[in-house]
Amino acid sequence: MSVNYWNKKVETADREELLRQQLEDLKITVARALKTPFYKKRLHQVGLESAAEITSLDDFYRIPFTTKNDLRDAFPYGMLAVPVDEVVRLHASSGTTGIPTVIYHTRPDIEVWAELAARSMAATGMTSKDVFQNMMTYGLFTGGLGLHYGAEKLGSLVIPASSGNTRRQFQLMKDFKTTSVHATPSYMHHLFNKLQSEGISRRELSLKKALVGAEPHTEDVRKKIETLFKIDVYNSYGLSEMNGPGVAFECVYKQGMHVWEDSYLMELIDPDSLEPLEDGAEGELVFTTLKREATPLLRYRTRDLTRVLDKPCECGRVHRRIARIKGRTDDMLIINGVNVFPSQIEEVVMKLPESGTNYQIVVEKAGALDQLTVKIEVNETVFSDDARDLNALRRKIGDYLKASITISPVVELHEHGILPEFEGKAQRVFDRR
Ligand code: AMP
Ligand code: ZN
Repeated sequence: MSVNYWNKKVETADREELLRQQLEDLKITVARALKTPFYKKRLHQVGLESAAEITSLDDFYRIPFTTKNDLRDAFPYGMLAVPVDEVVRLHASSGTTGIPTVIYHTRPDIEVWAELAARSMAATGMTSKDVFQNMMTYGLFTGGLGLHYGAEKLGSLVIPASSGNTRRQFQLMKDFKTTSVHATPSYMHHLFNKLQSEGISRRELSLKKALVGAEPHTEDVRKKIETLFKIDVYNSYGLSEMNGPGVAFECVYKQGMHVWEDSYLMELIDPDSLEPLEDGAEGELVFTTLKREATPLLRYRTRDLTRVLDKPCECGRVHRRIARIKGRTDDMLIINGVNVFPSQIEEVVMKLPESGTNYQIVVEKAGALDQLTVKIEVNETVFSDDARDLNALRRKIGDYLKASITISPVVELHEHGILPEFEGKAQRVFDRR
């Protein structure tokens, strides 16, 4: 199998040298973190006054974990380590409440991210000859812009198609002979179904590979997409707190995803005891940024469950791999690649004067894509109203929900007493995918 390096020196570095560099960068990162109000307080609480006190990883592990809630509490600038005028971009992801998780980037931060993205894509065999159609959403979500700059750096022809509008996606694929795409695995399935219903043969396309990510999927799902399109499919993992796509990526061997350890210090912990786990055990991923200027994050709990694969990869990269993400340790739902916390939906529902106290969140497959249905019990008076009022209310709730979670749910209104009541812990979320 031919192996394509983007930055051979870093990708195949001596492991000892990589670890030594990690410690150096860790000290720089802690020094940067100490410039933020949040970490200054946090680190002083554990008696850490200066980055010079970090002489080993053990010193570093005295620092408590950082969580999504910490990011929310520090909103908007409590974790910013540089003056605002040095920031050139921000991205945001959903939090458990209306307050988003915001990550800021300086120009060098964007440059490092583009390098990691280029390196990731090159690991799948992509080159400047590729025509890369990016079908991930462009915007606050990192999926679109994240790989966009990496692919440009690689020299590929980038088509910033963004998500949706399947017919136009096909047109672009045919017109420009797209060779590689980036999408969620469910969108790839959807694309195939549409291809068939539009009577287009996959032979009319020039597609060779798909980079898929943003949502959990199994090896069977990968194989299915590969068989349907007769292409290679590579798993791409990232989270906006660690930039976005380009944190961990599969190489041509497709045996787990290499975590770029020159940019991320990886730990795996038991999500209950918070104790470190050996390579091979299943646990929660924890990352520390090693190169980031604007938003350094120390020991960030991703909530993602996986295993660290300790055996060296045949591709010769020294960066350790992780297995497919198995799930999450919190209640975050990923719906067509978009993160949704049930609490965000509850917040909207409970603010409505028309709603009672009972509601349900149902996620199921509608064709290849995910569909979210929010069932809400509403006051009696609503049902005595005109059907037109009922429809208007449904639309209004749909709009409020869309404004909060960015996706449009199906809204069902029910009379009081229709949804099941619970005496103990209520079960309101039904994930039937
Ligand atoms: P966001 O911050 O919006 O980019 O969402 C990041 C989250 O999406 C991660 O913490 C994971 O839970 C999920 N995710 C991203 N990529 C993958 C992947 N390849 N497999 C499984 N889950 C993923
Ligand atoms: Zn490899």
